[in-house]
Amino acid sequence: MATTRAHSRGLVDELQSSHRFTLGVLLAVLVVSLATSGYLLLVSQPRLASYVALGKQARDAHEGMLDQETGLRAWLATGDRRFLGPYESGKRHTRVASDNLMAGVHESPDVTDDVLAMLLAEQRWRAWSDRAANTRFTADERDDGTLTAFLLGGKRLFDAYRVAETTSTDAIRSRREQALDRQQVALVVVLVSYLVLLAGTGAVTVRRRRQLDRRILGPIDDLHGTVQRLRDGDLSARAEPTGVPELAEIGGALGQLASELDRASRDALAREQRLARLADRFETVVSVGREIAGSLSVRYVSATVTSAAADLLGERTTLWVRDDNQEFRATHRSEDPHGTPAPVHLVPSALVQRAAAEALPAVGDGCTAYPLVLAGMVTAVLETASTDVDEDTEQVLAALLSTAAAALESAHLHSAARELADMDGLTQLPNRRRFELDVDTEWERCRRYGRPLSLVMMDLDHFKRLNDEHGHLIGDEVLREVAHAVTGALRTTDTAYRYGGEEIVVLLRETGLEDAASAADRLRAAVEAITVVDDPRLRVTGSAGVAARHATMSHYTDLVAEADKALYDAKRAGRNRVAVAGMPAETLFRGTAEGSVTPA
Ligand code: GH3
Ligand code: MG
Ligand code: MG
Repeated sequence: MATTRAHSRGLVDELQSSHRFTLGVLLAVLVVSLATSGYLLLVSQPRLASYVALGKQARDAHEGMLDQETGLRAWLATGDRRFLGPYESGKRHTRVASDNLMAGVHESPDVTDDVLAMLLAEQRWRAWSDRAANTRFTADERDDGTLTAFLLGGKRLFDAYRVAETTSTDAIRSRREQALDRQQVALVVVLVSYLVLLAGTGAVTVRRRRQLDRRILGPIDDLHGTVQRLRDGDLSARAEPTGVPELAEIGGALGQLASELDRASRDALAREQRLARLADRFETVVSVGREIAGSLSVRYVSATVTSAAADLLGERTTLWVRDDNQEFRATHRSEDPHGTPAPVHLVPSALVQRAAAEALPAVGDGCTAYPLVLAGMVTAVLETASTDVDEDTEQVLAALLSTAAAALESAHLHSAARELADMDGLTQLPNRRRFELDVDTEWERCRRYGRPLSLVMMDLDHFKRLNDEHGHLIGDEVLREVAHAVTGALRTTDTAYRYGGEEIVVLLRETGLEDAASAADRLRAAVEAITVVDDPRLRVTGSAGVAARHATMSHYTDLVAEADKALYDAKRAGRNRVAVAGMPAETLFRGTAEGSVTPA
């Protein structure tokens, strides 16, 4: 109960109680000091002083008596008056001292009787001494014993005085010693009182000090330490809510403030980290954007965008791009960040189709599809295996995809333009520019790896005449049919190009001379078999020269020159046939008809 009450006491109560205690101690010290000083000054010291004074007066009186007695004795023995001088002086001394004794003896009643007895004995002897001083004894009186009898009377009186004096002096001394003893006892009592007071004060002070430590100083130290730790940035620091209620309250409030500060600081840190992450991602998007904006390859743009999106989302991604037939085809699949192999589906999922149709992100089946929109048109869709994408990430992704949409379109337009530049508009065959690029590359590869490479050079027969007779429109039609027939007769690894007006060159990869010659004859036969829709009776033929790469050739133009020369041979041998470079004319492959002819 006492503890509970003490704990409910406030800081002010505690301090007031400390003050009260200090005041109490001071008061006790004051009382003991006053009592001691009062006793010593008012009782003990005056009493001692009076006994000392009495003793001194008694001594003085006695010395005077001794002087008188000595003087008298000499006077009575000699009758010489000079000896009465010391007697008189002793008498004066004794009188003064006796008067003082009489005056002082009232203050010391316990020795009054003894002192009065002494003074009385002194008076008696002095009466005798006065007679002795005024009596001159004759020789007879000296001889007959009168003097002796007188002296004996005086001696008796003096002896009585000596006894009274000794008693009185002893009494005074004894009383003085008693007073001194009492004073010493008083001093010891004072000393002991002080010691007891000191010990009591010490014990209580220690107890109070412990209480203060527990209730005030400890909690203040704790608060101070907590404030310092908080100031040093340790926001987990908390003060124990102990001690007097005020300090406990301050500790609690400090803890609450620190918690709020901690929470605010965590929020600020999280916000800062979020912004830093966002800035980082935007920086990545900007650098990806810069990279793909300059690229002219749809494949490169697709690969970069899917990998950047996979990094951003932490999931694999697939980019579906709309082709010329409005179909979506997957142009690239990112690596899976989790290492599982991505499912390869060739047809876009319903989710991709929905995102493309609605031009909005679509979620379902554990996947999300984001449309890439350019000028209101969905040009591509990014499919990802993640469904819970946060707002920040979606913002960054939106920036990436809008850059990607523009870059994809630009790359797509570029490749279309390039295709146009390499294409012959009439026959839809790659043109001579393309042929020269391709043959150069192929030549280099075959030369390095020692692989075979052949060329067929074909020229339509008497085409000028066909033009002349049927008009250029029919000529163009025939050229388209020839191109169609030639590409239809080729393997996929071989490519036909429109080399000149009605000249076609075919690049046969990994093909030797013999196989090239067969292929050339296949082409020749295919051309011969052409029937023109507008005029089914119209016939067209072509002559071809075949050449294959061999060791003495140093450049692809050597191969072209040999094929050209063989073509010339085929023409010279009568057309609609195939001449092979380096072979005798008898080995010509020959067609049935000769030249492009018009039936009658
Ligand atoms: P040869 O059998 O000796 O080759 O006789 P040719 O008449 O075919 O002679 P040449 O190859 O020198 O003539 C090419 C002719 O092809 C000239 C031109 O009238 C015709 N020609 C070239 N390009 C085109 C074209 O794009 N369209 C049409 N209709 N005719 C073309
Ligand atoms: Mg020609
Ligand atoms: Mg010709």
